[in-house]
Amino acid sequence: MNRCVVVTGSTSGIGLAIATAFAQAGDNVFINGFGKPGEIKRIKDHLETTSKARAYYHDADMTKPAEVADLIETAVNTFGTVDVLVNNAGIQHVEKLEDFPVQKWDQILAINLSSAFHTMRAAIPAMKERGKGRVINIASAHGLVASPFKAAYVAAKHGILGLTKTAALELAEFGITVNAICPGYVLTPLVEKQIPDTARARGITEAQVISDVMLKSQPTKKFVAVEEIAATALFLASDDARQITGTHISIDGGWTAA
Ligand code: NAD
Repeated sequence: MNRCVVVTGSTSGIGLAIATAFAQAGDNVFINGFGKPGEIKRIKDHLETTSKARAYYHDADMTKPAEVADLIETAVNTFGTVDVLVNNAGIQHVEKLEDFPVQKWDQILAINLSSAFHTMRAAIPAMKERGKGRVINIASAHGLVASPFKAAYVAAKHGILGLTKTAALELAEFGITVNAICPGYVLTPLVEKQIPDTARARGITEAQVISDVMLKSQPTKKFVAVEEIAATALFLASDDARQITGTHISIDGGWTAA
């Protein structure tokens, strides 16, 4: 479709699946995130050779507002606007509140919440000028409900749902929709890393973390697949979704129905 799609944190996991789905739909994609140069080149080449899309990489660190703004400015300078902005970059840290490192709190709030403010702030003027745009914020089931030992993550994800609603109201008359996707547990590097940490924090085995903590929350007893989230992002970016704004779609196997 040849739109310009920016996906933050797309060198891995959910963001990579979203960038891949948009590229395969014919959109040009700006990917972003950390990784070794060879790995990033491999991702970019794969996106281009398996689709008609152009793929660009920008190394903005989502904790640095000037770099975040430069990512959007680069995309706008290349394509005139950002048609679809997917705020996906995120990290996790699992620790008791009283032991939670202050630096981790600041980092999680910056990446999981403030970076979406900075990308939107930079992208909105061009979207308004074109009279269209789509913002998709990757929140979490933890934007709706809490779990212990995830203070910063839960706070940031609740915050991004508030930002989603506010932006949707402000932009409703400009052809711009703003929505969130709230996934349950998806087996990506982010989740793989927290299995040993959760085991330590709760004093249980890693197998128990998977069965008694993670999949216990999900009535389907299955991890969500990255492709399922990407398909929902594609739908939210479609014309058919033009009246969907200021809301979230849960993809959590029934977790937050309880
Ligand atoms: P992941 O670890 O596989 O990928 C995270 C991406 O963010 C990577 O590309 C990484 O390089 C990038 N990133 C991290 N810090 C960054 C920074 N400072 N600047 C730029 N990029 C940075 O994780 P994931 O599971 O794919 O998570 C993606 C999003 O989905 C996150 O917002 C996460 O909170 C959310 N989410 C994940 C799950 C899950 O179970 N995996 C569930 C709900 C929501």
